[in-house]
Amino acid sequence: MNILDGKKISNDIKDEITEAVAQMKTNGEKTPHLAAVIVGEDGASLTYVGSKVRACARVGFESTLVQLPADITEADLLAKIQELNADDEIDGFIVQLPLPSHIDTQKVLLAVDPKKDVDGFHPENFGKLALDMETFIPATPYGIMELLRRYDINTSGKHTVVIGRSHIVGRPISILMSRKGQPGDSTVTLTHSRTKDLASFTKNADIVISALGVPNFLTADMVKEGAVIIDVGITRVPDNTTTKGYVITGDVDFEAVREKASYITPVPGGVGPMTIAMLLQNTLLARQRSVQ
Ligand code: NAD
Repeated sequence: MNILDGKKISNDIKDEITEAVAQMKTNGEKTPHLAAVIVGEDGASLTYVGSKVRACARVGFESTLVQLPADITEADLLAKIQELNADDEIDGFIVQLPLPSHIDTQKVLLAVDPKKDVDGFHPENFGKLALDMETFIPATPYGIMELLRRYDINTSGKHTVVIGRSHIVGRPISILMSRKGQPGDSTVTLTHSRTKDLASFTKNADIVISALGVPNFLTADMVKEGAVIIDVGITRVPDNTTTKGYVITGDVDFEAVREKASYITPVPGGVGPMTIAMLLQNTLLARQRSVQ
């Protein structure tokens, strides 16, 4: 069994980005600037945004945190987005999800200029992803593809089973794994909450990508010997023995499944750090594309 070390690979990617930024500075060019919009005070969202802003500092990007009150009106949030769209200083920005229920998320994501949509959530960018066109690939699926690529895992002709069909992970990764190229060229089965006898699919899978958010859902009896296991799940499970009062748990019963897997991502330290690295990569791309 080999660990797919997302922490190490994400650090390699951050080093590469740091070098590219240093080169931009040497050339007297503008350096990438990421803005993150957060609405409200949700603890997990604040943690995620905080780590994205810290990651910007680590690679030499400028960053701006736009903190807005939970009761902001949809119109005011849309006005803020138009401001960011028009601001030449900002190369890319994200709107941290989920948004409060009185705000229409689709409307907000549609308002983001596709050229600055470094999360890749705008329908224009998602459509381009499905059509093999240049775009911003959403950071989590992009991170999974990069892990497979850098560990040189052959995915061609393999059966990949994805669990979960969300717009940000399951759906895009199922498209990416079926696209031409390496990684890709997989035969993909997309499973979800309505799938009957889900284990009958995972037992036959060469690669399982689990993105449902149910701790220890994927057990050893559900995977075949030698399978590649990618665990996207991040769930805070209450645990009074820790100082934080919770532990981060993936979708995979790691200790048992690792005995059968050829490669497996740990949680934490697998897909999570890759997501942040690929957000930085997309911001670098946004900067580079704006001067082309
Ligand atoms: P989501 O809640 O939007 O979607 C979950 C999906 O799982 C749905 O499509 C649903 O059909 C499916 N599902 C739910 N219960 C199921 C069951 N019993 N059997 C089969 N399918 C089932 O989830 P999401 O936003 O894609 O996130 C999934 C998990 O990944 C969460 O734990 C989330 O925290 C985590 N996540 C991690 C990262 C990262 O950077 N590592 C990024 C995004 C999401």
